[in-house]
Amino acid sequence: METNFASNTAASTSFKKAMDTWVCATNINWGIGSTATVSEAASTNVNMVKFGGASEIIVGTLAYTSMGFRRCPNGEWELGDVDITFNNQDYNWNYTSSAPSSNQYDFETVALHQLGHAHGLVHVNNVGDPMYYNTKIGTTNRSLNAAVIEGGNYMLINSAAMGALSCNGAIIPFPAGSCGLSSPTITSFTPTAGATGTVVTITGTNFSSVTDVRFGNVIATSFNVVSPTEITAIIANGATGDVSITTPGGVATKSGFTYITKSSQTLTFNPFPNKTYGDIDFDPNVTASSGLPITYTSSNPLVATIVNNKVHIISAGTTIITATQTGNATYSPAIVNLNLLVNKANQSISLSTIPTKLVTD
Ligand SMILES: [Zn+2]
Repeated sequence: METNFASNTAASTSFKKAMDTWVCATNINWGIGSTATVSEAASTNVNMVKFGGASEIIVGTLAYTSMGFRRCPNGEWELGDVDITFNNQDYNWNYTSSAPSSNQYDFETVALHQLGHAHGLVHVNNVGDPMYYNTKIGTTNRSLNAAVIEGGNYMLINSAAMGALSCNGAIIPFPAGSCGLSSPTITSFTPTAGATGTVVTITGTNFSSVTDVRFGNVIATSFNVVSPTEITAIIANGATGDVSITTPGGVATKSGFTYITKSSQTLTFNPFPNKTYGDIDFDPNVTASSGLPITYTSSNPLVATIVNNKVHIISAGTTIITATQTGNATYSPAIVNLNLLVNKANQSISLSTIPTKLVTD
């Protein structure tokens, strides 16, 4: 680290965390060396992290990574050094582990991206990917995904394969299990039993770079890292067993999750007879085998609406009455559609008998 950069403890701590995220994920052998002056950035074979001076920053650039290559005596080229420069002149950075405000760029997010370049990765056009080319103000993306980890691993494998041809040999991977990120822990989760689609809240520690959440070793449908100590996750077609969380720092598991297989339920109904405009409200009479209540909706409220769980005819025409049983903790939902035809009422004109008239009237 360059002297000025290293003296900004918040920035250097945030950078170290992004670096550890990569080291823990791909075992790339990065570490923080001694503090140096900026002139060494121009020299070869010294990796430098620094803030940009006026001559180095292109306006509109948050940060950039430059890589120097050197030619080995045998004619092969290899990576000589990497310099990362952060623009501290034009931007308001969030160096903390909290979320940035709407007018701040998140330093760890940008550091993770730049270190991806240092790892040999290029941009992708995939919003949400750490290597997406456009970092949005006021947002964070401090986690790696499977694609960039695979890319980083490929670089290390390639380095090993090319080792004999390079000047200095292959990269020696960072010792597995000893990277700088702490392992996550799970303290509790609730509910402890759930069916597909149930949202489970998991509490614990070191959740900030979660890559995987499982229930009974089945990957969750989705998860949301609420804070470094809380995750919400949606159960997929799961299994009973452990809840597990994976981060670049390790894997946490906690036993005691029970997967609930919901029972199906059937709806019993009769097709509607044709109705006539003017008919009174009627009960659709759909019942569920579970005994749970049914709710109704009408696709065409100009023809019929639902009033007090009965069909209320508005005019002649057609509509679909949908009967829904939403399910509960033990039953899956069930639904049925019933067609309703409402005919026009027959018009009748009643004429009263004209009394006999006398010519003398
Ligand atoms: Zn970039």
